[in-house]
Amino acid sequence: MIRTIGSFAKRIYLPRIIGCGIGFWAVAAVLWTLPTPLWIWALLVFNGFIWPHVAFVLARGQKVQYDGERRNMVLESALGGLWVAAMHFNLLPTTILVSMLCMNCIAVGGPGLLRACLAAMTAALLAGVALLRPGFVPETTHLQVYACLPMLAIYPLALGAATYRLAAKLAEHKRAFRDFSRTDSLTGLLNQGAWRLMLDAEYTLGLRRAGTTSLALIDIDHFKAINDGYGHLIGDEVIKLFGAVLAEVKRSSDIAGRIGGDEFGLILRGADVDQAEVLLKRLQTRLRETFEHRLDLPAVSLSIGVVGFASAHANVEDWLRACDHALYDAKRRGRNQIVAA
Ligand code: GH3
Ligand code: MG
Repeated sequence: MIRTIGSFAKRIYLPRIIGCGIGFWAVAAVLWTLPTPLWIWALLVFNGFIWPHVAFVLARGQKVQYDGERRNMVLESALGGLWVAAMHFNLLPTTILVSMLCMNCIAVGGPGLLRACLAAMTAALLAGVALLRPGFVPETTHLQVYACLPMLAIYPLALGAATYRLAAKLAEHKRAFRDFSRTDSLTGLLNQGAWRLMLDAEYTLGLRRAGTTSLALIDIDHFKAINDGYGHLIGDEVIKLFGAVLAEVKRSSDIAGRIGGDEFGLILRGADVDQAEVLLKRLQTRLRETFEHRLDLPAVSLSIGVVGFASAHANVEDWLRACDHALYDAKRRGRNQIVAA
């Protein structure tokens, strides 16, 4: 899932700067008391203050930033293993360092990344033991405890905040994806599937408060002739403009969807057939006015079938079929009219 989230490297940049910066002091407080070679100090300074920026650049350079970040975490864990050896197994900073690194790995890549990080940490620890030949000095002095406190207090907050931001972003993406999957791309109205789900729900509701919802099916007359005479692009423009007029005229509680090429469905909540007809006539008028101003588009008319909710409809298909018959009647009687069943 994280693969879909934009700049992952950016999201982890600040928590890493904070984590490495305060981690430096926890390790340095121990190395200070031990015979530590210069190259270890240099590597610690690198890890503490330069590595977050290097990691950012490395991850940014990757095609899939998440893959770059996984590699960064494995490298980071290896450095952690080396610090454990360099600190001669000093218990408190070792525990904090290992647990924070493991927390990062599991948060970002789950058990798979955790296994890879633990393997890298162990390998580097063994290499560190071979190179540095450390003793076993688990005791932690008072000063070293103080040096560990910022790591304990601040880093989980930084990671928590980053995780929260990620979760919020995920929720936003999920919402956008859901909207996208429900929307007709040409008109911005509901698509066929989403509109049908709304109709199902409305039918179930209608069983409880009969007669208060009407259903209309609206079809553009002779649309094929528009496509044939003016081309598909103009045809698309007509559909788009009609969608906009429909969205403007309908009440906010009504549910409009594009359910076929030039066919639209409208659920008129709380409207009986008479009220629905008033609104649908307004739709016809508004459409005529709109197209009068668009000299580049052919005039269009609508055939509309409308039917109120009645418990006589055995199911939602029955309701829809009754409405479809009304629309068919409107076509048969010469088009450009509303027929109520
Ligand atoms: P009627 O008055 O009986 O409705 O006649 P009609 O020509 O409108 O017939 P029908 O509703 O069956 O025609 C729909 C046409 O819409 C058929 C198809 O080629 C066209 N169409 C379907 N989807 C699109 C689209 O997204 N864009 C365009 N431009 N045309 C489409
Ligand atoms: Mg048509």
